[in-house]
Amino acid sequence: LFARPCRFTYASQRIDQLPAFTLPEVAFCGRSNVGKSSLVNALTGQKTLARVSNTPGRTKQLNFFELGEEGRGRLTLVDMPGYGYAQAAKQVKEDWQGLMFDYLRGRPNLMRVVLMLDARIETKASDLAAMDLLGEAAVPFQIVLTKADSAKPYWLRKRQEEVAGFVRERAAAHPVVVTTSSEDGTGIEELRAELAALAAP
Ligand code: GDP
Repeated sequence: LFARPCRFTYASQRIDQLPAFTLPEVAFCGRSNVGKSSLVNALTGQKTLARVSNTPGRTKQLNFFELGEEGRGRLTLVDMPGYGYAQAAKQVKEDWQGLMFDYLRGRPNLMRVVLMLDARIETKASDLAAMDLLGEAAVPFQIVLTKADSAKPYWLRKRQEEVAGFVRERAAAHPVVVTTSSEDGTGIEELRAELAALAAP
């Protein structure tokens, strides 16, 4: 699935402009700066696919990328806008009310949302709010820890235990948590295998 280049297919700022749901879809979300662009680029092996940036507050839009042979796509990756770095839970909910929530609720081909949490930082209220919304939207989500290379081992273990707790508590959470690093490649193959299992044949 990841052997061929991934293609940018669509950017959407309005729910009525979403592309037709022809392929299974996996959406990526997380706080700004969590390492989402870097991870999407590491997964697809393309350095410039999703823009890596330190500036939060980009235009709120959904970006669609297709994996698989040209003309025979197998999986769509959707890059969701990051929620704010210091954003309160309430703001996340407000932000996600429009396009994001409509997208999450109205997308029958959305197989899973990958929710990224920074391995080095404790879970923020905004992350919990995002998990609540995913639960409300009844979308299965999988937690991925990012930047494992720069988390101290004891802290990483603490984070993994904390996240295992979220997974137990939340019905919509997929049981497998993948610990990743876009820097040293930790977990990238494991996450690719998780996603490949959702792709069309
Ligand atoms: P986004 O805002 O969620 O798309 O995050 P980016 O991918 O733009 O990354 C934010 C910052 O974290 C950048 O400075 C990246 O170089 C850094 N970063 C991303 N992934 C990793 C990682 O796996 N390890 C480390 N050490 N830094 C990372």
